[in-house]
Amino acid sequence: MFLRTILWFNARTMDYEAVIGLETHVQLKTKSKMWCGCANEFGAPPNTNVCPVCLGLPGVLPVANEEALRLTALTGLLLNCRIPGLAKFDRKNYFYPDMPKNYQITQYDQPSATDGWVEFEFNGGLARVRITRAHLEEDVGKSFHFERHSGLDFNRAGVPLMEIVSEPDLTGADMAYEYLNALKDILIHGGVSDCDMEKGMVRCDVNVSVRPAGSRELGAKIEIKNMNSFSGVRRALEFEIPRQIAALKKGGKLIQSTRRWDDTAGVTEEMRTKEHAHDYRYFPDPDLMPFAPTEAWLAEVRSRVVELPLARKQRFMREYGLPAGDAEVFKNDVALGNYFEGVTKHTKSHKAIANFLVNNLRAKLAEFRQSIPAADPQTKEGEVTTFKMLDYLRFKPEHMAELAALIDTKTLSSSAAQQVFSEMFETGKSPAAIVRDRGLAQVSDEGTIEKFCDEAIAAHPGPVNDFKSGKAAALNFLKGQVMKLSKGKANPALAGEILERKLKD
Ligand code: ADP
Ligand code: MG
Ligand code: ZN
Repeated sequence: MFLRTILWFNARTMDYEAVIGLETHVQLKTKSKMWCGCANEFGAPPNTNVCPVCLGLPGVLPVANEEALRLTALTGLLLNCRIPGLAKFDRKNYFYPDMPKNYQITQYDQPSATDGWVEFEFNGGLARVRITRAHLEEDVGKSFHFERHSGLDFNRAGVPLMEIVSEPDLTGADMAYEYLNALKDILIHGGVSDCDMEKGMVRCDVNVSVRPAGSRELGAKIEIKNMNSFSGVRRALEFEIPRQIAALKKGGKLIQSTRRWDDTAGVTEEMRTKEHAHDYRYFPDPDLMPFAPTEAWLAEVRSRVVELPLARKQRFMREYGLPAGDAEVFKNDVALGNYFEGVTKHTKSHKAIANFLVNNLRAKLAEFRQSIPAADPQTKEGEVTTFKMLDYLRFKPEHMAELAALIDTKTLSSSAAQQVFSEMFETGKSPAAIVRDRGLAQVSDEGTIEKFCDEAIAAHPGPVNDFKSGKAAALNFLKGQVMKLSKGKANPALAGEILERKLKD
């Protein structure tokens, strides 16, 4: 009794920590499905992309999609994995109405990639999560439930699906969220998947347990199945971790189980416990040969390895002295980042260029987006990427560099620079020509500015007296008047200096 009281007391006051491992499913960006020639395409009318193979009819033979194998190996390389000399396909047996074969082909004990890691920004520093494996399998169809009947759409059946399994290295909801975003960025950059969440291209099983802080032993694993949004994953963990801790603090025990996330109610609920776990009776698929990548095949995959998003961001900060915010934009918008790098070949004014691309050019392109589908019948709406739009730019990268130089040498005020940029965007004229034609060059000639200052002082005795009696802010008003008199062309810093000098006389 005494001992039980002590244990109970300990459980109640102890600190707990969460342990999380994620199994992330990603639809691969291939033209055709995993085992047949049907299109891998989202949004087609139900059951139009199907054939005997993906409908699971008896007697058919699957043929592995080699591009899917390449993309899985490529993912392995991007995630610092080892690519084993042999990958094998197995059958995972279970019954599900939207999986007509009654088994799913997957890679059980010999996956395409193992033992990697992914690094990402978290909590102001870098976090690293180990990757257990990345393996290739196939998606299932989709069920729809109507009032009096159900419908099955097999267009998705047999779409190449890659599963990335992490080690239980994640320690909280936010970290899981950042990990998923980093993974998604890598897969998009690598051309592995479009990772369109709206189209269900990324889904995730969340494994989470809690244990006394500092303990090495893992607690009972609770799996939350089939999450289809990253914010959902974060919310589910924000609910589930305190739930488990509260259960232990009350002296309860947790058992390995599977739960479902109810997004509307914001709670997880139990689906089944370990006693009711499936026995999948895995065995090697007799219809598919194990796959042994050759050196030449691997070299081809290796040539497709891209700079990782995080490395790209770090490089933009280091090489061009950009703040994290700008580097982040160029990391996410690869086309814009590449364009930036093109412009930097013509100038050293990196920061000014970045400002214009991140603020002005992006805003202009967003306006411009509407007009492109009309100009180009090949382009479907919603498909207009920055990459595409940059093709339509009327001005040259050199013009961008020229504009930056005009700002850096203070020939242009920042408002005049905006004006030049707008006109350059619309007409493709060079900044020099625009400045000349519109007389926009900033005035830095002291004599000219002095005249404007004298005028402003004569016209506003009130603010002049305010300044003289100690109200420093009155200077800004007078400076504003000088800018107005000069039609915005006076060099504002110089105007301020001259005004101050005159008022202090
Ligand atoms: P299973 O064989 O049931 O699929 P695995 O050992 O393959 O289980 O692990 C599946 C996922 O669960 C992995 O991402 C792994 O990191 C994670 N995991 C395993 N044990 C735990 C645990 N006790 N707590 C949290 N996550 C865990
Ligand atoms: Mg599993
Ligand atoms: Zn098919």
